[in-house]
Amino acid sequence: MISDAKQERKTVLIVEDEDNLLAPLTYSVEREGFRVVTATDGGEGLELAREESPSLVILDIMLPTMDGIQVCRILRSESDVPILMLTAKGEELDKVLGLEMGADDYMTKPFSMRELIARVKAMLRRAELSPSPTDGRDDGVITSNDLRIDVEARKVSLGGDSIKLKPKEFDLLALLAGHPGKAFTRDDILDSIWGGKDNIDRRTVDVHVRWIRQKLGEADGAPRRIITIRGHGYRFEG
Ligand code: CA
Repeated sequence: MISDAKQERKTVLIVEDEDNLLAPLTYSVEREGFRVVTATDGGEGLELAREESPSLVILDIMLPTMDGIQVCRILRSESDVPILMLTAKGEELDKVLGLEMGADDYMTKPFSMRELIARVKAMLRRAELSPSPTDGRDDGVITSNDLRIDVEARKVSLGGDSIKLKPKEFDLLALLAGHPGKAFTRDDILDSIWGGKDNIDRRTVDVHVRWIRQKLGEADGAPRRIITIRGHGYRFEG
């Protein structure tokens, strides 16, 4: 029975050369039900990432043989696996580089394991929700009647007229429209768009939906593309 459960578990790869951090990291992530594979240098980490196809990678920056930045850059060129970078205090430059290299998030040491697990879960949920190329998209463009969302260029137009959306409004519309008919809870949306930050109120989602509706001319009883699901959240209807 254990082997069955094992197959369903998601794998998290942890690349960290400090034993006194690797051990508690491994313990904390395993305790959440994930399968953990570990590497203590960059080259080994990259190899394991290719062999194990993990669902998420936790990647330290300062590593022997190949640093985390390099590993991140190579990994990102090969897959969309979510990457959480670990940085030491004062590595501001490295932080920026890490994100430019395609890391999805970073944490500065020392951090709490609880916060790390929250980030890991949010990243995994975000990865599951992010639009896949087959979801009503063509070359990074989502269309629904006269609405056109160019995800790559971050442009929205309605009947040929360009609509100006703020970044979060755009992200929210692209998320919903990228999964037409799928019901999202407010928590799903918060995790996906606001990165699971605990201090953001669920009503933020409602406010952004209201703004999007106004900009799409769907205020005041006009037919809506974003449908409110009472007691649940929202869904997009094409
Ligand atoms: Ca290190």
